[in-house]
Amino acid sequence: MSILVVAEQSGGTLRRSTLCAVTCARELSSTLGLDWNIAVMGNDVGSVASELAGYGASKVFVADDPALANYLAMPYAAATAAIAGEVGATWVVGSSSTTGKDLMPRVSVKLDAGLASDVVSVSDGNGGLQLSRPMWAGNVVASVDILTDVKCLTVRTSDFDAASASGGESAIVTSSGAVGAAQSNAGRMRFVRMDATGGERPDLNEASIVVSGGRGLKSEENFHILDELADSLGAAIGASRAAVDAGYAPNDYQIGQTGKSVAPDLYIAVAISGAIQHLAGMKNSKVIVAINKDPEAPIFQVSDYGLVADAFQAVPELATSIAQAKG
Ligand code: FAD
Repeated sequence: MSILVVAEQSGGTLRRSTLCAVTCARELSSTLGLDWNIAVMGNDVGSVASELAGYGASKVFVADDPALANYLAMPYAAATAAIAGEVGATWVVGSSSTTGKDLMPRVSVKLDAGLASDVVSVSDGNGGLQLSRPMWAGNVVASVDILTDVKCLTVRTSDFDAASASGGESAIVTSSGAVGAAQSNAGRMRFVRMDATGGERPDLNEASIVVSGGRGLKSEENFHILDELADSLGAAIGASRAAVDAGYAPNDYQIGQTGKSVAPDLYIAVAISGAIQHLAGMKNSKVIVAINKDPEAPIFQVSDYGLVADAFQAVPELATSIAQAKG
């Protein structure tokens, strides 16, 4: 019996979401008294494995092969299940990222495991281990018990802090079983290309600063007033669903109940009213700044700093001031 964290990397760079899953695994490990391990998959991912060896896992299992060069659900699910079998994992922990949400249901089917998604906490409850996950835009927090022998979960990266390196060096083990499993599933899907939105900007799930725009920006063209502000801060850009539905911003910018959950150090909400479904995806941000011309906008109830102003005046001024302050 043990715990397995499914690491995520992109182009040989470790994704922060992995470290949030590590925090969850450490909590599970201390509650259940089980060893925990990490699975690293990809091509040329030796440096990711070495980096993760500093987090105190028992072992870091590596499947390094061209069949895993780009994320594809089938070879990755086969490789993950193979490592889980090798290590005797009874808990398999991924993150609630786009990749994790695609991968973990397939892994759970392969392992005949129940799956709890979007887990926000694990605790030692009266009747045993309790997994909590939000429902109905965060209005209800459900306690979930998985009854299968092997249990899979995805953790919300906004609710588990990124782990820091500690706990000693882990052994790095090559998993030939996982490589074989990936190779035999590689022909079933073909990677065509990755169309990344946001250009050079950080990924929404990884960014420490997010600048987000809402319907109040009134057009796709106006939405670009956020670019300069975001670039002056090195921030990712997000959007409310209303802004996405109106075509001002791409789908994968959406933050909220039916979009992404983020918890950056700084979240700047521009012309966003603060509907409960939007708050569900950003309310755990460390510092929230709201810019809205309506002093009664609900977003001000959750913001640390509020600016009642017209976004079309305030945002360019802010961007200029930040650029000047940075010299
Ligand atoms: P509005 O509510 O229209 O607010 C626009 C704001 O802009 C207003 O507060 C206004 O005062 C301000 N404004 C206007 N002009 C200016 C200006 N010049 N300067 C400054 N401020 C200005 N929403 C999400 O965001 N994410 C989700 O994932 C999501 N999921 C949903 C799921 C379900 C099942 C449902 C029913 C709804 C969901 N919604 C979601 C929609 C949500 O209920 C709101 O409709 C949406 O968040 C509103 O977006 P908004 O704040 O941009 O627009």
